[in-house]
Formats: sequence, C-alpha cells, structure tokens
Amino acid sequence: MKQIIDQIVSSRNLTLEQLVGLLSSNNQEGVRYLFDQAHQLTRHIYGNKIFIRGLIEISNHCKNDCLYCGIRRSRTDVHRYRLTEEEILQCCQQGYELGFRTFVLQGGEDPWYTDERMCHIVASIHQQFPDCAITLSLGERSRQSYQRLFDAGADRYLLRHETADRIHYQKLHPAEMSFDNRIRCLKDLKEIGYQVGCGFMVGSPYQTFETLYQDLQFIRSLQPQMVGIGPFIPASGTPFGDRPTGSVDTTLRLLAIIRLIHPHVLLPATTALGTLHPQGREMGILAGANVIMPNLSPARLRANYSIYDNKLSTGAEAAETVDDTRRRLTPLGVDIPADRGDYTPSQTSDSQ
Ligand code: SAM
Repeated sequence: MKQIIDQIVSSRNLTLEQLVGLLSSNNQEGVRYLFDQAHQLTRHIYGNKIFIRGLIEISNHCKNDCLYCGIRRSRTDVHRYRLTEEEILQCCQQGYELGFRTFVLQGGEDPWYTDERMCHIVASIHQQFPDCAITLSLGERSRQSYQRLFDAGADRYLLRHETADRIHYQKLHPAEMSFDNRIRCLKDLKEIGYQVGCGFMVGSPYQTFETLYQDLQFIRSLQPQMVGIGPFIPASGTPFGDRPTGSVDTTLRLLAIIRLIHPHVLLPATTALGTLHPQGREMGILAGANVIMPNLSPARLRANYSIYDNKLSTGAEAAETVDDTRRRLTPLGVDIPADRGDYTPSQTSDSQ
C-alpha cells in the first residue's frame, strides 16, 4: 500500500484499481501512512494554519427537490425562514469580532434573492468588511447572475457537482434538474474568476467505486480551488430517508486522496463529518483537511437548516465557540489565524 501511495504522491493521479485498493484495504498501517502523507503535504503548503469560514445559512427555502436533501421543496414539515440584509450583516459583524475573515452565504435555491437583492447584500458586506472574503453557495444561477455577483464583490463560490457520473446524477435528482447545467455553472464560475469549490457526498445512494473515480478525475480536470466532501446522512421525510449513512472512514480516506492528487486545494473537514463523529474534524485535519466552517447563523434559526437528521450547529460547530475550537486543536500543533485563507496557487499546474 505504501508503494501505491508513493506513486500517487509523485504522479498526482491514481488508477481505478488503486482507488478500490485504498478504499477497501484493512491494512491499518497503510491507512495511517495515507493520512500522514496527506497531512504532511498540507503542512508543507499551508504551514500549520487551519482556516476558518463563518457559515451563514441565509435561507432554507428551496425551489429544488433533490432526493437526498432535508430542505427539498416537497418537505412540508420544515419551518422555512430567510434572513434579511440587516440580519446577514449582523452575523458578519459578530463573526468579524470573533476573528472570521471569510463569510460563506449559503442557502437553498430561493428566488427571493434576486440578483438585485443579492448584489446589494454582497456590496454592503464588501463595503463594511473590506478585508474579508465573500463566498457564495446559492446553487445554480445564470452566467450573467454569477458575473453580477462577482462584480458586486463576491470572491468565491461553492457548488458541489454532487457526482461526476451523469446516470448517478439523474438518480439523485428529479428529472427537471440537469447534470449539464450543474457542470455549466462550475465552468462559468471558473471563467468569471471566482475561486471555485466543487464536491460530493460520500456514500450517497447508488454511489460506486466507479462513480467516485469519476469524481476524482473531474477534480483533476476542473482544478477547483476548494473541494467539499462529507458523508451522506439520511434526512427523514425524503425519498432517501432510510438509506445507510456514509462512512466516516471512507470520507477520511477520500480527503487524503484528494489532497494527494490536488495538493493546493482548500479542503474542509465538514459539519457532516463532525456530526457523525465527536472527533470528526480533528480526524479530518489529520487526513489532509485544512478548513473548518463553524456556524454563524442566528442561533434561534439553526435547527431549521436541517439538510440531514441531527445536523450539528452547537458545540464545536458553533462560531461563538471558536476560541474553544482553537484550544481543542492546539494539541494537533495547528493555528487558526484571523485571515482570509486564500488559495495558494502552485508554481506549476497541480495536475502535472
Ligand atoms: N443550494 C445550494 C447548492 O445546491 O449548492 C447550497 C445548499 S445545499 C443544501 C449544500 C450541500 O448539502 C449540497 O451540495 C449537498 O451535497 C449537501 N447535502 C444535502 N443533503 C445532504 C445529506 N442528506 N447528507 C449530506 N449532505 C447533504
């Protein structure tokens, strides 16, 4: 296994057979070597810094009906909310005082946030917090809309591709959603000049080694600045509410593999990982993750952004406890600076 991992480090690529081997191996020493190589590579590029992003869940209204998602349109038992510009700015102010220099505005696809409203919100944050990065994660929009938001001051955009396999995509989404449009969005965002994040759930229904391999090859070709992956967690009241939960161990192995094939990527240890394991974030960092995204949404509304069951939004996942998080991560020898935590490009292409 060590030999395969060394090969991946030097070629920044792997074969399907190697992926299957790495994900199915019971060789604990080999798995530790995989995590160590990924963690060391992260430290080589980003030093001992772990970047924090303040996550503001601006709306749980969604016009989409993704089969896996707890805030999908057809769930009628969800208490829906949306934040006003003033409330969003209050979250940013609180986050700024806590040391956050990136704000991530995430939400369901909510048409209430027209380009006009959204550009106003982005421009106000940009004006009031000029030393902060603004990340958006608002789903699929037109190229013109992405351009307007970029011109208003947005720096980054997170849009998980969900799966790079067209047939798999169709099994996770209703017929009116299109794989081609998802990929079109990611390409547009990159061309416009955003720092772009793609990603997928680990253990989503119908996922196979082959679809995961396509995900990794998609990452190699897109060369995103960020990749968000986390275990699939069933959400009750959805068509996949009784499907098995994704594996923490497989998620950690995939984090490490993504670090090895795309070394400079900004890679969060996601809330879903923290939800499934009390040490999920620490384990993610030791497997190559270098970003955490504590929740900065108004505390009274957090429980409503329930994209899966038992989603954590308190304790280590809450922005207000970031000082505790700092202390908890000290034994790992990492530091959480109050800085934007931008992508550091490599001198040569990461894909070689
Ligand atoms: N609407 C935006 C979009 O589509 O990109 C952002 C919000 S969406 C809820 C954010 C991400 O949550 C999705 O890309 C999906 O991967 C993840 N997600 C949704 N349901 C999930 C589940 N049951 N388990 C784990 N992750 C889930």
